Amino acid sequence: MINTAAMTTKKTKFITKLKNVPELTADEQSILADVTDKFEFRANDYYLSLIDWTDLNDPIRKLIIPNPCELDDWGSLDPSGEKNYTIMPGLEHKYQSTALLLVSNVCGGICRYCFRKRVFIHKQDEMLSNLEAAIDYLRHHPEISNVLLTGGDPLMLSTNKLQNIIEPLLHIDHIKIIRLGTKIPAFNPYRIIEDHKLIELMSSVGSAGKQLYTIVHFNHANELTDPACQALRLIHKTGSVLANQSPIIRGINDNPQNLADLFNKLSFFGVPPYYVFQCRPVLGNKGYVVPIEEAYQTFEQAKAQCSGLAKRARYAMSHETGKIEIVGLTQKHVYFKYHRAALDADNGKFMVFNRNPDAYWLDDYDQPIEQFPLENFQNSEAVL
Ligand code: SF4
Repeated sequence: MINTAAMTTKKTKFITKLKNVPELTADEQSILADVTDKFEFRANDYYLSLIDWTDLNDPIRKLIIPNPCELDDWGSLDPSGEKNYTIMPGLEHKYQSTALLLVSNVCGGICRYCFRKRVFIHKQDEMLSNLEAAIDYLRHHPEISNVLLTGGDPLMLSTNKLQNIIEPLLHIDHIKIIRLGTKIPAFNPYRIIEDHKLIELMSSVGSAGKQLYTIVHFNHANELTDPACQALRLIHKTGSVLANQSPIIRGINDNPQNLADLFNKLSFFGVPPYYVFQCRPVLGNKGYVVPIEEAYQTFEQAKAQCSGLAKRARYAMSHETGKIEIVGLTQKHVYFKYHRAALDADNGKFMVFNRNPDAYWLDDYDQPIEQFPLENFQNSEAVL
């Protein structure tokens, strides 16, 4: 069993009770008690200090402070069907070359729109409990070249525990890339700044002939503080490639200017935007999701304000069947393309649907009016 005892640092203090957020009035705390009974609250003093409490619409406030909208009975706990790709608790294998290890059931804070709330609700069932068995699985699957450590947040583990997970991966020849999926540089950059051993561990991946990718999760430019950028620079120095992924979230980054500011500022610190996700229809997320066609337009308008380096992201939906990119809109139609597919036959498949401005997920559309599998391109005389 992996112990996920949360890492603390001398510069941050975890806060898990709203009564310890003095900026919230007693009335607000009482209204929000029902929400935190259902979906837990977690933050820290550093992250809360980024909030402008005079602004009820502050994006960081929206991201971390519970909201009564979460009680709307909408969405499901596993909209991407992760259970269908779960080999054993905490090991998912959906795409041929990539396996996920859910190594932690804790994050530096809890994003209110979290796509994996089930990890915090069913704490022990969802996370990796048998590291040896997972390593054995990876060893016997030579098609796996990428292993993503996620959760929860892998950087919530102590560096020693993280090392115990990374070390055996370095000895498996066919694993070439280790990815860390983390929001710690946003939630608590001091976790990185203050832990030299963590930096050494990250550097050791490259020394062992593997490539480390740190996939960070900044949602708004206000999270890119000086300490956060210092943490990013330290990660760069380890030889890790950095990239950012973020959903488009109502009230946080759902206008083109905010999104462009995020993309541009990330690019200034050497962090290309990687995926911009359609916010998943997760239980409690109704107040945070933006319909697909609106989000697509926001994404395109934001990109119009960015340099080429700052607009490398794909706008995609982590659907049960694969990562589906939303590639275009006309007055009548919306166009999707599989970027990654669980089934080989779906790879590269292009699909055209009649528009539905109220659609939040692929399943909200009627049947495609046209679809074109990749093999048709390969067989087409028109494509030379
Ligand atoms: S960092 Fe990711 S897993 Fe953690 S609370 Fe936020 S969305 Fe959920």
